[in-house]
Amino acid sequence: SKTAVGFIGLGNMGIPMALNLLKSGYPIIATDAFPESGKELQDHGAQILDTPAEVAEKADRIFTMLPSSPNVIEAYTGANGILKKIKKGTLLIDSSTIDPSVAKEMALASEKMGAVFMDAPVSGGVGAASLAQLTFMVGGLEEEFTAAKELLGCMGANVLYCGQVGAGQAAKICNNMLLAIGMIGTAETMNLGIRLGLDPQLLAQVLNMSSGRCWSSDRYNPAPGVMEACPPPTTTWGFGTTLMAKDLGLAQIMATSTLTPIPLGSLAHQLYRTMCARGYANKDFSSVFQFLREEEGQ
Ligand code: NAD
Repeated sequence: SKTAVGFIGLGNMGIPMALNLLKSGYPIIATDAFPESGKELQDHGAQILDTPAEVAEKADRIFTMLPSSPNVIEAYTGANGILKKIKKGTLLIDSSTIDPSVAKEMALASEKMGAVFMDAPVSGGVGAASLAQLTFMVGGLEEEFTAAKELLGCMGANVLYCGQVGAGQAAKICNNMLLAIGMIGTAETMNLGIRLGLDPQLLAQVLNMSSGRCWSSDRYNPAPGVMEACPPPTTTWGFGTTLMAKDLGLAQIMATSTLTPIPLGSLAHQLYRTMCARGYANKDFSSVFQFLREEEGQ
């Protein structure tokens, strides 16, 4: 029988990902900073413990799926962190989207304890997580990739090796910068079309058969009533505006350190930051559509 897998961070993404590992026959030992977050997994047979250290004591393969860099640092190096109780030879896979330099720091700290660290951030969102259709972008030692791939394949449709530790994060941050630019572009385009009197469903059909097509127009169109993929702006599930602002902030850091111009990435960053400050922080990032309409006094 399969040995247990640890899972730390049971939020919008962590829960469906851990459920897919359970479905593939891996016993799950999990924890979250908010104890209530473990209820759904517990109902499906997972063991819920109090701290990352306790998970590390019991599992020799551990996933983290946490909001941002400070949370990952805390879960690894905090008083009750993974590294306090880690066993030699443990495989650590961080699927959060964080600063690549933090991924490298966690890799060094893990190595000192005799463990192996890989970054494996994901693309696809909550829907793809539930359907085990995520794309994983993996950074780490190539010889460890095979061991990780077996587990990642239970949660994703595509598992791509990107290079050394941090390379997965670099690829993910590039993807999300383009996603943000595409989403804002789709939202303002749909809004303009609607104001010109076009039916939103027809406009989406036109775009998706034309050169304006992108993931946000075709798979995650933010205009209400066009498709069911987008969570309504009244809920908090999906990919939060705060998380998108965080990813665009990481793109800024990386662009600054490499002296790379990212004019639209910067504009997207400021737009999502403004949304966070205006009550959209916990809404899905597609709510930029509603934000643009309200800005116009609707
Ligand atoms: P979330 O906020 O829904 O969940 C994060 C969970 O981590 C929460 O339950 C929180 O209580 C827990 N947590 C925070 N700090 C902790 C700690 N120190 N120890 C234990 N638990 C802790 O976030 P999410 O939407 O699941 O996203 C997780 C990561 O995946 C983020 O980095 C995000 O950018 C990335 N991501 C999200 C999506 C998406 O569609 N939501 C898609 C791709 C990537």
